[in-house]
Amino acid sequence: MSIPSIDDRQNSETRSDWHRSLAGAIRDPRELLQELQLEQLAATFSYEAASEFPLMVPRSFLARMRTGDPADPLLRQVLPLDDELRPVEGFVADAVSDVTFRTAPGLLHKYHGRALMIAAGSCAVNCRYCFRRHYPYDDEPRRLDDWEPALEQLRVDSSISELLLSGGDPLMLTDRRLAQLVERLEPIQHLKRLRIHTRLPIVLPDRVTDALLGLLTESRLTPILVVHSNHAAEVVADCAAALRRLVRAGITVLNQAVLLRGVNDSTNALADLSESLINLGVMPYYLHQLDRVSGTAHFEVDPAVGRQLMAELRTRLPGYAVPRYVREIPGEAHKTIIE
Ligand SMILES: *Cc1c(COP(=O)(O)O)cnc(C)c1O
Ligand code: SF4
Repeated sequence: MSIPSIDDRQNSETRSDWHRSLAGAIRDPRELLQELQLEQLAATFSYEAASEFPLMVPRSFLARMRTGDPADPLLRQVLPLDDELRPVEGFVADAVSDVTFRTAPGLLHKYHGRALMIAAGSCAVNCRYCFRRHYPYDDEPRRLDDWEPALEQLRVDSSISELLLSGGDPLMLTDRRLAQLVERLEPIQHLKRLRIHTRLPIVLPDRVTDALLGLLTESRLTPILVVHSNHAAEVVADCAAALRRLVRAGITVLNQAVLLRGVNDSTNALADLSESLINLGVMPYYLHQLDRVSGTAHFEVDPAVGRQLMAELRTRLPGYAVPRYVREIPGEAHKTIIE
């Protein structure tokens, strides 16, 4: 891996572009509602929910919302509501018990052959249904040297052939920091693939820089990008262009979605999402049943309804466009297919 192959001047320019977009994300609820001409929702907005988990919406994502529509599926994913404060039985802080699989700081090893690195704690958007909203990120490594125990764990366990970068969002790291991480991973011969789980190409498309494409395509490790889009209205405009760029660079791009009440819990919404993705060359991978994390109960869809939706999807779409409907059951050796 040679970092100097990236033109430094151009690199710092593109970098500052996406950092500017990030800094310009909307954090003020009044501004969000004004932009959408939805001032009447001011009474619905929950300042208390926002004080626990702040509002954050990049302008590119905002631009894909419909003005004047309180039911807009993109808005629903980011708007803090009082519903989040209501305790609901069965919904808990650590629904997927991630911490019990921590084999080194920042490293989770749960499934055969794959380890997951929490590469960054932050995101460019705050999704209200997020399963990691209660995760203790502050305990995870920050400086490059802090990764050494996780890297050592990867070096000594030759059963691991794939490293997942997750978070938070790993693409919140700068291209330079990502390159430094990849540089330390490449000498580990049993590692073959680098999988990046990210929502940034969806919510902050200008994160897909030339430097990032170069880094992924030049690495010895086969790159797989798993993006996270829940609705067809997300994969348009600058987001569609960013996904195309990734696909055209030869990178395998998969999508995972979460089944969310009021966002994508209809056959039409799910079929449109799959169609939009495959038209761009992005393959639907998983449709996740919501993890039962406290504050997210109002997004839950009954798995019986989910099964029905999947049955209808199979009658509408090419076989390869139907995602696998899964849930995470603590203690299982893989994600569990809901049939
Ligand atoms: C979901 C997950 C993976 C990846 O599972 P796949 O079925 O390969 O997508 C790996 N590690 C952890 C900890 C996970 O939660
Ligand atoms: S991008 Fe992913 S990790 Fe970040 S808030 Fe949204 S769902 Fe959570």
